Amino acid sequence: MLLPNILLTGTPGVGKTTLGKELASRSGLKYVNVGDLAREGQLYDGYDEEYDCPILDEDRVVDELENQMSEGGVIVDYHGCDFFPERWFHIVFVLKTDNSVLYKRLETRGYNEKKLKDNIQCEIFQILYEEALASYKEEIVHQLPSNNPEDLEDNIDQILKWIEQWVKDHSS
Ligand code: ADP
Ligand code: MG
Repeated sequence: MLLPNILLTGTPGVGKTTLGKELASRSGLKYVNVGDLAREGQLYDGYDEEYDCPILDEDRVVDELENQMSEGGVIVDYHGCDFFPERWFHIVFVLKTDNSVLYKRLETRGYNEKKLKDNIQCEIFQILYEEALASYKEEIVHQLPSNNPEDLEDNIDQILKWIEQWVKDHSS
């Protein structure tokens, strides 16, 4: 059976991992967290002193995922998307959270003042939405509200229905 690949992106804290894991368990699709993958395989290329975090080796991440992605049925979770091959994804969801809600979530994570400010700015300027629009066909890029548990349930229902329809359309 042919299964779609789904990209979940958006500013840190918008709920990609929460949605991705729940979606995977309910749909049977595989879940890949690119941050975890990079950490496990040390897929880094240098260190960003300003942001105090390692720099992702994007080429090695792509190589690492290529086989799995060409098989299909993968949900990918990452706060970036311009380095993935466009052909990988059948649909792209950019999660969106209100500033005050996002601020609280990131504060709970213990982000420092600068990291908090940068991430809130990233959300205000819709950086990840713009990146998704610049990297994928507009028709497959969708924004989803992610403020509360009701949004989460709605998003899961909506995406499960989309998967079901996609599978129908791609079976002969
Ligand atoms: P991301 O993977 O995008 O960084 P997470 O999935 O880790 O975000 O979520 C960040 C925090 O927000 C977690 O504490 C999570 O429980 C919470 N959260 C995520 N989505 C929702 C939602 N729809 N409603 C309420 N809280 C949420
Ligand atoms: Mg996450």
